[in-house]
Amino acid sequence: MGKEWSYKTPGIPDEAFVQSDEVPGPTKEEIRVITIAKARLNEGDTVIDIGCGTGGLTVEAALQVTPKGKVYAIDEDPIAIRLTNSNADKFGVRGTVSIVSGKAPLAIIALPNADAILIGGSGASLRAILQIANSKLNSGGRIVINAIVLETATLAIAELKGLGFRDIDVAHILVAKGKQINSGTMMLARNPITIVSATKS
Ligand code: SAH
Repeated sequence: MGKEWSYKTPGIPDEAFVQSDEVPGPTKEEIRVITIAKARLNEGDTVIDIGCGTGGLTVEAALQVTPKGKVYAIDEDPIAIRLTNSNADKFGVRGTVSIVSGKAPLAIIALPNADAILIGGSGASLRAILQIANSKLNSGGRIVINAIVLETATLAIAELKGLGFRDIDVAHILVAKGKQINSGTMMLARNPITIVSATKS
């Protein structure tokens, strides 16, 4: 399929992704940009995307690491898996994306080591996922957790400290987008996302 995004920089518009009301995502455009920057990716890297949803982060990561790199996209929801597949096709990175249908942490145990791990969904298993993620990350590798609820962020911070990660960074991102109304451009706030990132020692 075609290459829908011919730029080096991330930030594919949300509307460009194939979407479904039944699956969350894509992670909003500006949040995707910061998430990918925090992951510090290079061409050829191996990335694991836990909770790939619509495939927004999977596609952005794949565009960074292609052609030699790999993104393992994991979701427990079969509709999310289908959507991620469609979006990988649409953006011309199907060969770079390996889709894994299953629930983390179990679904990531058999995967190879990675240079970066993105966590966009974890359910009640965040602590166990972070422990396995730690064992899968190459030294110097990056972990990035996108948290909608504060408890996910605080648990991630405590757990990353306990696991000995360094350079733990917490960024709470508030985005408002302009909407054209008769009198001008009205800014509409989106829900804030907390991005917790760190480096494996
Ligand atoms: N970053 C995605 C959106 C993620 S939505 C995008 O850009 O499109 C979060 C996803 O995490 C959901 O699809 C949900 O099914 C998945 N999820 C939550 N807990 C999970 C777990 N333990 N294992 C696998 N997938 C999980």
